[in-house]
Amino acid sequence: MLTWFETSPDVGPDCLCSWCGQPIEDVLPIRWYDNQSGREARFHNDCHWDYMTIPHITTYIPGPRMGGVPLYPVFHWQDLKFDRVRPAIKSFIDYGAGQEPEPSKVDLEIVRRWFEYIITAPCWYCPGDELMELQQSVKTLQNITQLREWLDQALELGIDPL
Ligand SMILES: [Zn+2]
Repeated sequence: MLTWFETSPDVGPDCLCSWCGQPIEDVLPIRWYDNQSGREARFHNDCHWDYMTIPHITTYIPGPRMGGVPLYPVFHWQDLKFDRVRPAIKSFIDYGAGQEPEPSKVDLEIVRRWFEYIITAPCWYCPGDELMELQQSVKTLQNITQLREWLDQALELGIDPL
């Protein structure tokens, strides 16, 4: 959750980040102004990146219930409104289909985070051990080969993050 502030202090100990809550002391914050409320959100550069590229990753919105069990929505990546996510995933898919260029490191990290978001969604009921293995291994994927191998394993379980 973002913290919105009434104040707009200069860089320093009072300039807290809306995302991580830590002071922004040595770089200029990225500031957002909400004209309606007059409040401000501000970010470390990295925190802004995280906030913009990892939408909903740790916050699952409870969806409808079925037989007493809450169903959770898993968003499709094409529905995301965050501008850096869609091109990254698209470049991963296109490269897999033989099109250049190779996805950048940032692209691959975004794809990895997307996989992690999907695989940790609390809606899967497939075999527990294999699921937990994928939930662990997704954290360590470092290149396109590993991402593809991981994707194949997920598909074998019937989970298609793309
Ligand atoms: Zn921060």
